[in-house]
Amino acid sequence: MRLTILLVEDNSADADLLIESLSTDSFSKAWQFIHVERLGKALQCLEQQSVDVVLLDLSLPDSHGLDGITQMQTVAPYVPIVVLTGRDDTEMAIQAVAKGAQDYLVKGQISTQLLTRAIRYAIERTQIFKQLKASECRFRAVFDQTFQFMVLLSPDGIVLELNQALANVEASRLDALLHSPIWETERWGYAEPIQQWMKNAIAAAAQGQIVRDEIQVLSTQGELRWLDFSLKPLKDETNKVVLLIAESRDISDRKLIEAKMLQTLEQQQALNQLKSDFVAMSSHEFRTPLTTIRMATELLEKYSHKLTEAKRAQHFERIYAAIASMLHLLDEVLLLGKVDAGGLHYEPAPLELTTYCHDLIETLQLTTKSNHKIIFHCSDEPIQGEMDQSLIHHMLTNLLSNAIKYSPDQGAVWLDVNCQSDCVKFQIKDEGMGIPLQDQQHLFETFYRANNVGKIQGTGLGLAIVKKCVELHQGQIQLSSDVGIGTTVTIMLPRFCAATSS
Ligand code: ATP
Ligand code: MG
Repeated sequence: MRLTILLVEDNSADADLLIESLSTDSFSKAWQFIHVERLGKALQCLEQQSVDVVLLDLSLPDSHGLDGITQMQTVAPYVPIVVLTGRDDTEMAIQAVAKGAQDYLVKGQISTQLLTRAIRYAIERTQIFKQLKASECRFRAVFDQTFQFMVLLSPDGIVLELNQALANVEASRLDALLHSPIWETERWGYAEPIQQWMKNAIAAAAQGQIVRDEIQVLSTQGELRWLDFSLKPLKDETNKVVLLIAESRDISDRKLIEAKMLQTLEQQQALNQLKSDFVAMSSHEFRTPLTTIRMATELLEKYSHKLTEAKRAQHFERIYAAIASMLHLLDEVLLLGKVDAGGLHYEPAPLELTTYCHDLIETLQLTTKSNHKIIFHCSDEPIQGEMDQSLIHHMLTNLLSNAIKYSPDQGAVWLDVNCQSDCVKFQIKDEGMGIPLQDQQHLFETFYRANNVGKIQGTGLGLAIVKKCVELHQGQIQLSSDVGIGTTVTIMLPRFCAATSS
């Protein structure tokens, strides 16, 4: 097939010379010339027919300089241009090549050989450029159309390019992202350990390793998102790492679902444990009060007439106490079951703690039949907070009941409440029997009781309930105790808690 050469030259002598020099070439049958004298005509020709190469004079009647190249490239981007210049125009010719012309030839110095070679090379280079362009287009399509975030990095971690999916998300901070070390970008640089992790990952990938992990980064909205992140090295034919490809996928939603499923599973396991513990202990815990009730009712039924008024009252008292103990146990089990089934909710509301604690102590002193003194300390100022009153009630009544129950009659029990910056500190103290060291770590487990309780009644559920109430408030609990000296429980709760949990 013959190649079509478009010669754009207004000087007919120069044009003839060129056409002639190619006609003498042994391959002359391979060429066919179209000769025009103006740029306008040349552009028309490019629009209308296929041309393999353009020989372009830079000084034409309707165009002078580099503008002609630009116009031609707009009309026919893949047609190679070889520029023809005069002896004193070499500077402009070099600029023409920088603009995309394939080569330049200086008039008066053109030999047939030189011209043939320039044309052939120009066509070949354009073919290669076209193939590269097509390959680049295919790469771009994959790089930009994927839903994954992709970044190309130099082996030392400098961001070279990012794909469209990431560019869309990072639009507001794109400039700061490109050409910076990836660990210094906002997404990765928000915390020192993450920066260090990324530096190590880059170093490992630069050594040829593939790195993959689940990691948290900072989104443009300022929230932490989970990414499934991988870093792969790309090697050249000498096995040298020349590029790192970072890929990531936002897996925050999946993580959330996983965490919820795990939480449900844990709740279910705790509930099952509670149920089996309850079954295991109920035979004992219910048998004792039920035996008391049966014996007392039998006595009252059969020998009521022989009993004194005081004796009868004593039996009734025993029946009520046994019923109260069973009800207490049922209440505690039901409450814990509710927590484990996710049914006990944290519902904060404004609460003034000074008045609330005064009232609670008053009620407690009336209802417990002990002769303990509850000493309440708090600041003179009202302590205003936002807490769940029902959870605070379970927490304080259980701890104060323990302090009373496990310290000698007539003893004193202290409740201190005060504010510490944005927290409220509750401290419940007694000078009772204390708790042996080996028991202390198990006290918050359900049905656990220390080995020094003797005949003091209890089911071992109170502290487990207290712990759940503290956790629902996102607070902290600490217990310190010495046998024979006493026990102090300290609880720190956020004064205003925004987060809600179940
Ligand atoms: P209940 O479920 O009725 O409260 P309980 O008091 O036995 O029964 P917890 O309140 O959970 O159960 O306490 C667990 C154990 O911790 C108690 O059995 C007791 O051994 C020990 N304990 C708790 N508070 C004190 C305290 N103030 N002094 C000494 N021992 C304590
Ligand atoms: Mg208790």
